[in-house]
Amino acid sequence: MTEKLPDDLTQYFADLILQHTTDAILMTDKDQNVLWLNHAFEKLFGYRREDFAGIIPPELLYCAETDSDVARQVVEAIDDRRPVEVEMRNRCKSGQVIWVEKKLMPLFDAEGRHIHNMSISRDISGRKAMEAQATEMMDSEQQRQHERRLLSQISEWLYSAKSLDELLMVVKKSMETLLPEAEGQLYIYSNARDTLELAAQWGDGEPHAHIGAEDCWALRRGRAYSFGVKAIEFACGHVHDEDHPYFCLPIIAQGETIGLLHLCFSAFDRSIMPRNFIETFMQQRWEVGLLCAEQISLAVANVQLRQELQDQSLRDPLTNLWNRRWFLDASQKELNRARHQKLPMSLISLDVDHFKRFNDDHGHDAGDIVLREFGGLLASIFVGDFAPCRIGGEEFVVLCSGVSHDDAVQRAAAFLDKVAHIEVSHGGVRLPRITASAGVATYPEDGDEMLRLMKVADEALYAAKEQGRARVVSPRAVTPKKVA
Ligand code: GH3
Ligand code: MG
Ligand code: MG
Repeated sequence: MTEKLPDDLTQYFADLILQHTTDAILMTDKDQNVLWLNHAFEKLFGYRREDFAGIIPPELLYCAETDSDVARQVVEAIDDRRPVEVEMRNRCKSGQVIWVEKKLMPLFDAEGRHIHNMSISRDISGRKAMEAQATEMMDSEQQRQHERRLLSQISEWLYSAKSLDELLMVVKKSMETLLPEAEGQLYIYSNARDTLELAAQWGDGEPHAHIGAEDCWALRRGRAYSFGVKAIEFACGHVHDEDHPYFCLPIIAQGETIGLLHLCFSAFDRSIMPRNFIETFMQQRWEVGLLCAEQISLAVANVQLRQELQDQSLRDPLTNLWNRRWFLDASQKELNRARHQKLPMSLISLDVDHFKRFNDDHGHDAGDIVLREFGGLLASIFVGDFAPCRIGGEEFVVLCSGVSHDDAVQRAAAFLDKVAHIEVSHGGVRLPRITASAGVATYPEDGDEMLRLMKVADEALYAAKEQGRARVVSPRAVTPKKVA
């Protein structure tokens, strides 16, 4: 048991505590008329005792931000004459709203009559701000985790795409899931490399079919560009209006810029929404946007590599024409299509004349140069419905889909004419010109099986050789066509 202190010392201590405590203390009568408040109360809320003349504390302290359920809890406790402890928001005289931890207690006299109320308020704004910050951080961490999970699922899909078409479909679906607030487009450089072509789009935008690299700040500056929140900034030329913030993110595969990911947040209107609101949102999305661009870049590189490998197995390295393997597969498919669509299909079999002699006279390297030129000419003349292939040493076939016999014969003749004009030099020496012979066969007239058609075309080719070379022969032609 501690020894009882003299009353005057207890009073002295109590006065000191009241003077120095930072808790705001308020005493009222049972009807909540203010009788007394301490210095800390004045300091915290800015109100003095006079401010409460004819006004009970809730009328000054409670505000729109005060939780009505908590306020009701307090009223009920006072009515029931029991103590209550709550956290609530109060308004200070200055208008500032603060968080307080409030203890309210009814006080009773010796006979047990309720005569006073005591309220002790402690400022907890700092703690509340920290709690809010922590919650916000947890929310955004959860959001980030969710995005990371989605992104890793999406990158798996992106990686399993086997062709560019398949990849574009995955990109579209992924972007709609990952950034639902953004409408977007993926542009890919055309082969000519001066414009970018629209490859995929999602959301409501009305994109251009082509854009020029000089129309985009991201492509001009070679790095991702965010528009919509800075004081000084310029919209890209390919963007329709400047009211909505957007990202332009270059797509880079194997060190080369090959496209552009454009993401526009059209739900955000810069002309009516506060800038800091848009800025916070855009900052959150920036990271995700960059990750998407990176994943798409890797996936495009991956598809390109697959395509290259596949091409390598289907293309002839000397001439870059389709090879025998491709021809055998494609010709069968084309024949099936021709049968189905009731269209003609022709084969032009080609062979360079006296090529053994050419090699013997000028060397194998010179022969290769000539074959390359020959292949280049084939590729430049037979385009569209014509697929030229190198199926053996100096033997070529052109697969002509939907092309009639007469058209194929004419085309072959025109080509052989051009062959005779190929000029090639090797080691500073102009090489003699070459000629070639051709035979044509057409579905359905010459047969309805691939092997049969190839045989007929080869026989026509041999006939052309026998008849003196440098000509095209049709199995049904009465007189062989001699070319110059
Ligand atoms: P023809 O007019 O009857 O077709 O006579 P040809 O000499 O062209 O026919 P042949 O089949 O006797 O000889 C084909 C020659 O083509 C043999 C070979 O030296 C040459 N050749 C095949 N492939 C290549 C190649 O990749 N490079 C080079 N330089 N020559 C090749
Ligand atoms: Mg031959
Ligand atoms: Mg030959």
